[in-house]
This record gives sequence, C-alpha cells and structure tokens, in this order.
Amino acid sequence: MDTTDEIGQLAARFNDMAARLARTMADLDAEKQHVENLLTAKQELVANVSHELQTPLASIRGHVESLLTVTRVGGVSDAELRADEQEYLEIIQDEIDTLSSLIDDLFELSRLEARELELALAPLSLAEVINKMVRGLQKLAWEQHKVSLNAQVPNDLPLVLADGQRLGQILTNLFHNALHFTPEGGVVMITAQVSSDCVEVSVRDTGVGILPEDLPHIFEWFYRVDKSRSRAHDGGGLGLAIVKQLVEMQGGTISVGSIAGEGSEFRFTLCQVDTSD
Ligand code: ADP
Repeated sequence: MDTTDEIGQLAARFNDMAARLARTMADLDAEKQHVENLLTAKQELVANVSHELQTPLASIRGHVESLLTVTRVGGVSDAELRADEQEYLEIIQDEIDTLSSLIDDLFELSRLEARELELALAPLSLAEVINKMVRGLQKLAWEQHKVSLNAQVPNDLPLVLADGQRLGQILTNLFHNALHFTPEGGVVMITAQVSSDCVEVSVRDTGVGILPEDLPHIFEWFYRVDKSRSRAHDGGGLGLAIVKQLVEMQGGTISVGSIAGEGSEFRFTLCQVDTSD
C-alpha cells in the first residue's frame, strides 16, 4: 500500500470517528434537554398541586374551628359536643396543621428549585443575627425540651453576604431539629469561624445522632431517618432539603457529620463580603 492510500484510509477513519462523535453529542444534547423538560414539569406539577391543595384545606380548617368555637363558647346546649367528639376534632385540627406545613414546604421547595424566589442579599453580622435568635429561643429550648442552647460567635467576624430572612429560616430549621432530637439535659451549641473566604457556621447537638447509612441521604426530599420517630415531631422530611437549597442559593455549602448515640453537627458556609475594592 502506498503512502497516499494510507493517508486516504486514515482520513476516512478520522471522518467516520468525527461523524460518530457528532451523533453522540447530538444524542447527549437531546437527552439533557429531555431531563431538563422532565425536571421543569415536575417542579410545575408540585407547585400547582401544593397550591391547589391549600384552598380546600383552608375550608376544612375553617369548619373544624367553627365546630370547636361553638363548644368553647358553649352557649347553645344542643350544639355542645361530647368530650370524645371534641377530642376527635382537635386531632383533625392537629393533622390539618401538619398537612398544611407539609404543603407549604413542598410549595417553597419547588419554587426554590425553580429559582423563582428572589434573595435580598446584604452585608450581615453573623454575631448579631445568631445571638439575637439564640436569646429568643433559649427559654423555649429549656422550658419545652430541657436542653440548653448556647452560642459562641465572635463579634469581630467578617461580614457575610446573606439574606437575613432566609438565614433565619436556615437557623430555625437546624435549631428545631437539634432540639427535637436531643434528649433532656443535652446541649445545642452554635459556633462560627472564618474558613478561607467564607464564614462557617456549625450547629452541634448532643442528641440521638444519625447512622452512617442515613447521612448521605439526609438532604433528600422526604428523607426521614426513622418514620415513627419523625412522626412524633410532625416532620415531613423536607426541612433539610429546603435548608440545602437556601444555603446554596446564597453561594454556600452544607454538610453533616454525626456519631449515632452521641450527636450531630450541621455545618454551612456563607461568603464573606468582598472588601477588595
Ligand atoms: P423533618 O422535617 O422530618 O425533621 P428534615 O429534612 O428536617 O425533616 O430532617 C430529615 C431527617 O433527618 C429527620 O427526620 C431526622 O430523622 C433527621 N435529623 C435531622 N436533624 C437531626 C438531628 N439534629 N439529629 C438527629 N437526626 C436529625
């Protein structure tokens, strides 16, 4: 075979490979588009369904409240309820609250994932925000859970770029979980420290902890470690998925570490305000 033939064959093989590569790229593009369409459809479905569920639920809530009010006012004797009827209505009322907060969470999460919620980012002092929240919750933590809630956040930390309301939501979720899963006499501690160009916040508890096999799934939608345990605290398994979305939307990351039986630690970062110019 002379050199011209060899070059011709090489060129033909090269062209063939290039054509196959182009087909594979086009297939991948189509696949990516298909997955994106499915995700958008899922987000729209969840947002619509959760929105539509709120109206009938509000109506049920209104009727149950009317029945309970008649009893409490107690004026009309034939409208008075028996004790067991009153108890059933109160159970229905509690279940409505649980369902309603689950629907609120679903709606919020679908809007966060679709990036439909705007953030109001501004320079914030973490010491100010955290100390204020902790002061507000310390009494409740002790009276309702017999758990002491403490903060160690230096006043001279650099300012972070965050949305104050969303930061409050992140902290509230992490505090409530920590308090719910920490037995009496335990401690929940929040600290913050500089970590390269971010500030890292840690919420640590001395609670029941999370098993290693559950840790990788803890931020997934509807993931609850122990369904019966979570039922008692009315969780729908969406709180941490919302927290993760909120942290990431503000440019941060979140992680968890735990030793079962000893406690858990949730760490998230927020970006420092850029003061370079
Ligand atoms: P939920 O609303 O059910 O609490 P989350 O998404 O907030 O849902 O939490 C998911 C699961 O992670 C919870 O059901 C609980 O089992 C576990 N979990 C979260 N925080 C803690 C914690 N501090 N200690 C132990 N388990 C936790």
